[in-house]
Amino acid sequence: MRENMSMDDMKKTDVVIVGMGAAGLFCALHFPENIHVLLLCKTSMDESDSFLAQGGICMLRGEEDYESYFEDTMRAGHYENNKESVDIMIRSSGDIINELIEYGVDFEKDGENLCFTREGGHSKPRILFHEDCTGKEITGTLLENVKNRKNISILDHTMMLDLRTAEDGSCQGIVARKEDGEIFEIQAKCTVLACGGLGGIYEHSTNFRHITGDALAIAKKHGVELEHVDYIQIHPTTLYSRKSGRRFLISESVRGEGAILLDKNKQRFCDELQPRDVVTAAIRKQMKKDRMPYVWLSMENIPEEEIRSHFPNILEQCLLEGYDPTKECIPVVPAQHYFMGGIKVDMSSRTSMDRLYAVGETSCNGVHGKNRLASNSLLESMVFAKRAAEEITQMLPEMVEKEALPVHKEKYRDLQRLELEYQRIILEEIEKAQG
Ligand SMILES: Cc1cc2nc3c(=O)[nH]c(=O)nc-3n(C[C@H](O)[C@H](O)[C@H](O)COP(=O)(O)OP(=O)(O)OC[C@H]3O[C@@H](n4cnc5c(N)ncnc54)[C@H](O)[C@@H]3O)c2cc1C
Repeated sequence: MRENMSMDDMKKTDVVIVGMGAAGLFCALHFPENIHVLLLCKTSMDESDSFLAQGGICMLRGEEDYESYFEDTMRAGHYENNKESVDIMIRSSGDIINELIEYGVDFEKDGENLCFTREGGHSKPRILFHEDCTGKEITGTLLENVKNRKNISILDHTMMLDLRTAEDGSCQGIVARKEDGEIFEIQAKCTVLACGGLGGIYEHSTNFRHITGDALAIAKKHGVELEHVDYIQIHPTTLYSRKSGRRFLISESVRGEGAILLDKNKQRFCDELQPRDVVTAAIRKQMKKDRMPYVWLSMENIPEEEIRSHFPNILEQCLLEGYDPTKECIPVVPAQHYFMGGIKVDMSSRTSMDRLYAVGETSCNGVHGKNRLASNSLLESMVFAKRAAEEITQMLPEMVEKEALPVHKEKYRDLQRLELEYQRIILEEIEKAQG
């Protein structure tokens, strides 16, 4: 919370950003100091999917890589991608990476040169990384920078329950709930939704359990346009476990560095470097054939020192589950991972509702098409979050305050009922989109 700022002061702001993953934080950092920004998140500040990203972040390595990077993104997306979004993302990648380095992000280097790794669907190594916890390195660094900005205030453990709207249908901020149950309104000239995906509504997902697509349900309720809500990515390799809760991801870069998939007889059965949906289909087919709840992943082709230096977090988690990947195969199974659809936005992340923007996994600008290429999402989140901040900064002087329609707090008192209602809205939309 900004020093000298009371809770009452925070209830009125220029811009409210809901969500503190890479998208929300990067967006906040791109407002000038004369614009007050309020950032909020549902649980603690370090509990966003952005913190969980393992593999890395893509970067265009030079003009000679453009065609190939573009084609890899389109091929993974089944050519349903919006070409303009893809072009913007790829062409902006160099600037975004330079900014991250300036903020203090420490990417793996060999001497003075950045190191690049490769993941499924990529025809060349073009992914920057920090061990196997790139998301923590990037998002943690962004968070530290945000905390040093005088114009940004933070409210954690605060959940958006609804949007506030004016008579003319424009967005005028949000209705929120503190952990202690207090329900209050936040008046904002402009609102940015950066609430991540929807994995929390699935039994098996790599996402945090509280990332439940709230923004989608709320947007739908207000008639805001959504797109491709049935485009849900299943990651082929999560560590098989009988325990309930979030599934632990075995990053694609493990396969990029040489790990192979094996059936119950320890025989190879697919090309491990195909896009995610193709590998997922092959694993599911094999599991059915073998009548097994998992297939094996072998890291025998990766030198032990490389496993220890590049994948320390994965190694530790496997050991905790009772498997030593330096000596034996580990069991892996597909699980829900990413949401390609979302709140429909334009190239500046503007939604169909006046004064409402959406960025990151919550939004859909079409960049991923039907299936996301590995390591494109952190990049996409930041590229389009920055564009949103730039447009809002320009538009803000024209955004005069408008009176919001009255908010009836009683209808939000039963949180469990509200959460079930939002989940129902999302599942219905997915079913409808599937036809
Ligand atoms: C295990 C894992 C590994 C991944 N690896 C990679 C990778 O290597 N490279 C890559 O590019 N991508 C990777 N991804 C995907 C990437 O991390 C996410 O797509 C991306 O970070 C999404 O960022 P975001 O800011 O949109 O959302 P998130 O980082 O998920 O943040 C969502 C925020 O919204 C808040 N929120 C949600 N609902 C509410 C509400 N109602 N009220 C208030 N706040 C709310 C949450 O508290 C959170 O702060 C990975 C994802 C996972 C799960």
